[in-house]
Order: sequence, then C-alpha cells, then structure tokens
Amino acid sequence: MTLLTYRKMAKQAEKLGLNRLVRLVGSWRGLLVLTYHRIGNAEQCEFDRGVYSTDEATFARQMEFIRRHFEVVSVDDVMRKPADHWKRRQAVLVTFDDGYIDNYEIAFPILKRLDIPALFFVTSGFIDQRSIAWWDEIAWMMRKQYAGVEEDQVDDAIVDVVEKFYEISASESEDYLNRVGDQAQTGRYQGASPVWMNWGMLREMAAAGMSFGGHTVSHPILTRTSTSNWEHELTEGRRRLEEELDVDVQVFSYPVGNPDCFSSDLKQQTAKHYQAAFSCYGGVNQGKAAGSWDRFDLRRWPVYGPMRQFRMTTTWPQLLN
Ligand SMILES: [Zn+2]
Repeated sequence: MTLLTYRKMAKQAEKLGLNRLVRLVGSWRGLLVLTYHRIGNAEQCEFDRGVYSTDEATFARQMEFIRRHFEVVSVDDVMRKPADHWKRRQAVLVTFDDGYIDNYEIAFPILKRLDIPALFFVTSGFIDQRSIAWWDEIAWMMRKQYAGVEEDQVDDAIVDVVEKFYEISASESEDYLNRVGDQAQTGRYQGASPVWMNWGMLREMAAAGMSFGGHTVSHPILTRTSTSNWEHELTEGRRRLEEELDVDVQVFSYPVGNPDCFSSDLKQQTAKHYQAAFSCYGGVNQGKAAGSWDRFDLRRWPVYGPMRQFRMTTTWPQLLN
C-alpha cells in the first residue's frame, strides 16, 4: 500500500466517522428532497450517460440508508403537514424526473420493498409519443461520430452540443438537430425508443402508492421559450397524467430546474395550476423557515456520485444552500 493510498483511506474513514457523529447529534432540520433521473449501468447506455444518477446496487443502499436514518415522507405529507412539523424533523422526499423506464424496472421494486412513497415528475409527451429526448439523441449522435475516442472527450463533445441547444429557440431546434446529425454523419435517430415508461407501468405504480407531478409536455426550458407556450406545457402535461392515471396532480417540477430555468412570471403562472413547484438546486428546505418556504421554488438535490457522497450530502445538506 502506498503512502498516498493510506492517506486517502484514512481521510475517508475519518469522514465516515464524522458523518456518524454528526448524524447522532442531528445536524439539520427540515425537508431534503432528492432528485433522480436514470438508475442503472450508464456504461451500457448508447444515449446520454450523464442522466444516470446511480446504479441499482447503490440506489438500494441509498434507499435503505434514508429509511434507517430519516423520516421518509410523501408529497401529500409535504402539502398537508403544518410548518411546525418540519421544524423538528429530518424528512426526506424521493423524486424522479422525466419518466425513464428504469424508474419502473429498477427503482420501483426497491421503493416498494422499502415502502418509500416516491414522487415521479413525468414529461407526458415522452410517454405519449415514445420519441427520444433531444439530449439522448445528441449523445447518440456524438457517441457514433466519436466511436473509439476516449469517453471523456466524447462527454465534452456532448456537453458542447447540448449547451448550444439551450441557446437556440424552440422553433429552430429541429433544424439544429438535423444539422448536428448531418455533421456527425449519423442522421437523426430512427430506432425504437425503449427509454420511457408506458402508461400501464405508471398505473401500476400509482396503484402501489407512488405519486405523480407535472413536468411539461415536451421538456423545454420554459424561460427560454415564448410565454405563449407556457399555458399548454403547464396544463396539458397535467391533464394527460390525470386522464391516464386517474390521480390528482398537484405539483410540478421545472425542466432542468436551475435558478435561470424559472422566473417570477413563470412561478405566478405555475401557481394558477399547481399547489407547489420544485426546482433542482440548493440543499435542504430549512425547518426553521418552514412557515416561509417559497412553495414555487422548493429545493431539491440532484443525486450523483458514490455512496460516500450520498452519506455526506444527506448529513450536511445545508452546505449546498
Ligand atoms: Zn427533466
């Protein structure tokens, strides 16, 4: 064992020890909301590997960990419990965005086994049209164009092209994808799109106690599209979920969810149709401020990294604020 390895291991052990100590003391109070996208083996995916939050084994450990150490809550709890409730609790809500099929195949059995009532924000157009998401299509093109090139470089190329996509308007997006396909000499993705859940799977999850939230029809970054699109994206996505699943949809999550992905105007419009909306940045919704939480900017932590990272973040989520 080299000195460096030893130091690394010692540092790690020290961190884990501190984690345990802080957990015993109780370091935070409030509501921590976790965001997942895909669960599974990213290396086998021909689409965007960046949307994998973790693999199956780690996800199971993460869920067992929150079951053991925190109060796991449902979205109904978040909507109904009074502010005082959150002042004393370390509550965790588990959420998923977009509607990927591994949410059903991999995450759902684990959630059922541990009795965790997760909240799924579903983009209705993905489920209805079965078409691939633009970020997955771009990743597929780049992966084909740069076949044999080192993974890091492919990832850089994907990030560059995706970043440019964010800069263009919705009306130009098809042209842009056509051009990227031409340049990559792949054309557009024509294959089947086995990446989304279907309504039957979602109904089975609803029957097992899972909850659902709106996540638009077509997953635009709403602040970059014309405000005239907002009403359709906010209401039609919700209508399809309610129609297919026979559930009340009360909450929404802004696509991408960074602070620049929603505005005060968008929050106001969202409030006409939903009781609350979740962003996707920051740390814990602090218990001591529970009476004044912004219900249209409820914070979430997008989960990534190994189990050690998960333990640290759930122990000190206030560091993310
Ligand atoms: Zn999303």
